[in-house]
Amino acid sequence: MNEKTRKNKPSFFRLYTALALIVITVAVVLFAVALRPRLSIKLIGDSEIAVEYGESYTDMGAKALYGRKEYSPVTVEGEVNTSKIGTYVITYTVTRNKTVKQVQRTVRVCDTKPPVITVNGQAVGYKGEPVADIALSFTAIDNVDGNCTARVERINNADNIVLKVTDRSGNEASVTLPVKFIVDPGRRVIYLTFDDGPSPNTPYILDILKQYGVKATFFVTGQHEESFGTIKRIHAEGHTVAAHTYSHKWEIYKSQEDYFSDLDKINGIIKKYTGKPSTLIRFPGGSSNKVSKQYKVGIMTELAAETQKRGYSYFDWNIDSMDTSTTDPDKVFNNITSHLGNGYYNVLMHDTKLVHREALPRVIEYCLDNGYRFLPLDETSPSTHHSIRN
Ligand SMILES: [Zn+2]
Repeated sequence: MNEKTRKNKPSFFRLYTALALIVITVAVVLFAVALRPRLSIKLIGDSEIAVEYGESYTDMGAKALYGRKEYSPVTVEGEVNTSKIGTYVITYTVTRNKTVKQVQRTVRVCDTKPPVITVNGQAVGYKGEPVADIALSFTAIDNVDGNCTARVERINNADNIVLKVTDRSGNEASVTLPVKFIVDPGRRVIYLTFDDGPSPNTPYILDILKQYGVKATFFVTGQHEESFGTIKRIHAEGHTVAAHTYSHKWEIYKSQEDYFSDLDKINGIIKKYTGKPSTLIRFPGGSSNKVSKQYKVGIMTELAAETQKRGYSYFDWNIDSMDTSTTDPDKVFNNITSHLGNGYYNVLMHDTKLVHREALPRVIEYCLDNGYRFLPLDETSPSTHHSIRN
């Protein structure tokens, strides 16, 4: 046994020596392979670059190395056209014997510049007339799209005009022009106002207005429930739906609470048919009525102040058609036309009155023949306030 063991010792030793030699040899070979010069290529600059449309682009290239030494040639494929929006890929290749190395760069030619809107002159309008009527001269030029004036969207606000345009790359430009309002006593403007409807007679009035292309204002009430649907038609045909009160009873003047709860009620109806309540109101009897003081002294003074404080504009009138005291179309025609001159006229009428089926076409024709414009009331219109007598 002992002898055998002694004999085996040297052979074990030899085996370990051989294994160690193999390991060392492999290590030396791997080391040599690792140290062997290698071919590589690397971009100079970023691998993703954005260039503005129309600007010049200079490619920074790529650098190839063999070991630590610069190696050439590097071939470049692909080019960037900065006058065309898009994504361009540039490929850099270096070849040595059968080794090929490549890198790529993505260049995006993009448009981040919005069009430039140039307005010639100012926005000047006549007080009380629609901002939409103001003529404006402007251009919109885009670096990519060129002239895009035709695509400008115009938004007419109460006291400013917004011009907006978006180029094909989605860059938006907008300018806001404050409107300068001038008062021209030489203007001839008529606001036809119809109170107390809608009623079964209102569609006849609407037909006449439509026939002449005339827009008016309806101070509506809740007196004819069966005609509520007509509010929708009034609104749809471009007339102004304004609030007169729901009940149209003098009792609304007992207190501010009574008045406003009645006003809210008609505005609920208006909202139902037009989408929003109206801020334009007319007091039953006008702000100059002498009846309200029987319910509460001073109520009209209170309401005139409080309604305006709450954001309402109230309108009286400066021509009364007197359609509540006559059924004679000649008289109604004369009551209106005899008061007309140059200026802004708010004409009080009632769409509940049948007399207008005959009188209204004659009034409209007379006014059109004499250079008057018909406008619906809005927040900027002359309010034509009476003196309060309570
Ligand atoms: Zn009324």
